[in-house]
Amino acid sequence: MEVRFLGAHNTESESTRMPGIVIDGIIDIDAGGLTSGLSFDDQLKLKCVLLTHQHYDHLRDIPALAMNLFLRERHIDLYGPPEVGVALKGILNGDNYPDFLSEPRESPTLRFHPVRAGEELTIAGYHVLPVPVCHSVPTFGYQVSRGKSVFYTSDTGPGIDFSMTSSRLIIVEVTSSNRFEDFARRSGHLTPSLLEEELLGFQKLKGYLPRVIAVHINPDLEPEIKKELDKLAEHLGADISLAREGLVVSV
Ligand SMILES: [Zn+2]
Ligand SMILES: [Zn+2]
Repeated sequence: MEVRFLGAHNTESESTRMPGIVIDGIIDIDAGGLTSGLSFDDQLKLKCVLLTHQHYDHLRDIPALAMNLFLRERHIDLYGPPEVGVALKGILNGDNYPDFLSEPRESPTLRFHPVRAGEELTIAGYHVLPVPVCHSVPTFGYQVSRGKSVFYTSDTGPGIDFSMTSSRLIIVEVTSSNRFEDFARRSGHLTPSLLEEELLGFQKLKGYLPRVIAVHINPDLEPEIKKELDKLAEHLGADISLAREGLVVSV
């Protein structure tokens, strides 16, 4: 499997995009940097978008993707917690932007499917498992498997339930540096110090440490987060790195 990182940060600028990855060019997870990170041709190759939660930084390119597909008479399946469907209806209400969830009537551009925790889906030959994580709103991470497997946590605080997953590559959020640990705990995010607890829990459960790639990085704190993650990797003897926009990883 090939994982391409469209957005690796929690805020946008000319050099950073908001969260999103694409697996094998056909399964997108989160839409923070989807249209700005993919050519029109590559957008048309997508079979689905898995959305993790309703926060703007994870949904924002869905209206833009919908317009691109609508103009080419195409449609796409979206999956996510029910709350994501409600949030999308609020944006695509016919006033803010066309209601691509119900138009064109004969074949709507966007087909939203609510998913439930632990109920595995098969999409284009891939097994997709929604795994609940610990954020400020209902949020699913997704494990995507086809022979090999990758688990993307999305936004999460401490307490990830790794018992449902079997991936050797974990794409995990690390939003803040250690000095913001209290903020991270309150808002459902991770720091390198909180990630250490998660990884020790993983090791206790599985008997090994996964490869870890950090995303949802606050750009202002990136040098500090990198230093702390390097130290953690050395301390645990683990492979921990930071994602960047355009990074491609083979699993
Ligand atoms: Zn969030
Ligand atoms: Zn976020």
